[in-house]
Amino acid sequence: MIDLRSDTVTLPSKEMKQFLFDSPLGDDVYGEDPSVNLLEKKVSDLFGKEDALFVPSGTMANLISVLAHCNRGDEVILGDKSHIFLYEAGGISAFGGIHSYQLKNHDNGTINITDIQNSIRRDDSHYPISKLLCLENTHNGCYGSPVDTKYFTEIKNIINKHNIKLHIDGARIFNASIALNTPLHELTKEADSISCCLSKGLSCPVGSLIVGSKDFIQKAHRLRKSLGGGMRQAGLLAAAGIYALDNIYPKLNIDHENAKIMAEGLSSIKELSMDVSKVKTNLIFFYLENSNLSDEQFINKLLENNIKLDAKGNRKFRIATHINFKKNDIDFVVETIQSMVKQ
Ligand SMILES: *Cc1c(COP(=O)(O)O)cnc(C)c1O
Repeated sequence: MIDLRSDTVTLPSKEMKQFLFDSPLGDDVYGEDPSVNLLEKKVSDLFGKEDALFVPSGTMANLISVLAHCNRGDEVILGDKSHIFLYEAGGISAFGGIHSYQLKNHDNGTINITDIQNSIRRDDSHYPISKLLCLENTHNGCYGSPVDTKYFTEIKNIINKHNIKLHIDGARIFNASIALNTPLHELTKEADSISCCLSKGLSCPVGSLIVGSKDFIQKAHRLRKSLGGGMRQAGLLAAAGIYALDNIYPKLNIDHENAKIMAEGLSSIKELSMDVSKVKTNLIFFYLENSNLSDEQFINKLLENNIKLDAKGNRKFRIATHINFKKNDIDFVVETIQSMVKQ
């Protein structure tokens, strides 16, 4: 089966499993798991921040980060295609009473700087207080686009004047760093907090981290406990992250190259509509425009050919390349889609 639904379907390799099997463990709620402590140190160093916290998921990492920055009734500025706004069950509102101001996302993952400027609330009792800006990198809902440091610096100059903090949802920040050839600490130097996922392209079974200042992580630590995210011998999971940062992160360019080759192949199919120039990381988006096949028929026919894909609705589909997808299979996928849509 060729599973292209997401990079989250990646399985830990034999070497990764052996590595975590051999890793030292302790009770992380007591702060005594050496593997968790090592991973947190490694990640805070990589991102050039004071501290980091291991959490079960990217959703929890974002939720805790927003809760740590904001009080009830405060406002978060974010993109209308952002993961926090679309795909996290409204958690910041449900658990934090936090209001959101949604701005239009461009296809390259950014938001107009003037839109951000105009969304900042005046000090007036009619308004909520603008506390936090959340940006995403790479931007999943915007073609997996990587966003460069320059953009964050421009934004930071504006929001700083209003005492608004910057959180980066970096579920795929490792892909952004590789695609832009920019070290993580440079890419996130303007951020007050960052979340990142080990369970996407890095192929770990479970786990995300929150990165920020000592004070911020201390707050996040209490919030993690209150949300039920304190884990005991979590080193078994954290060790996978240690392995992945050393062995998988440097190889993400292979996923990006495979995506580019596959996108070029798909772009020659006239029943599909897509823009190859938008493919900059491991995500490919295309539209099934000139075919009689319904979205469901398309997915089902792919499945008959041992290819798994998700429909995103409105004729939109996403392919994610990843470490368990091999370059040899690109031709098979392109040819299968080509023959299907022509029927
Ligand atoms: C996957 C993802 C998350 C959430 O991660 P989970 O571990 O699935 O909760 C957050 N933001 C972005 C951009 C993502 O792609």
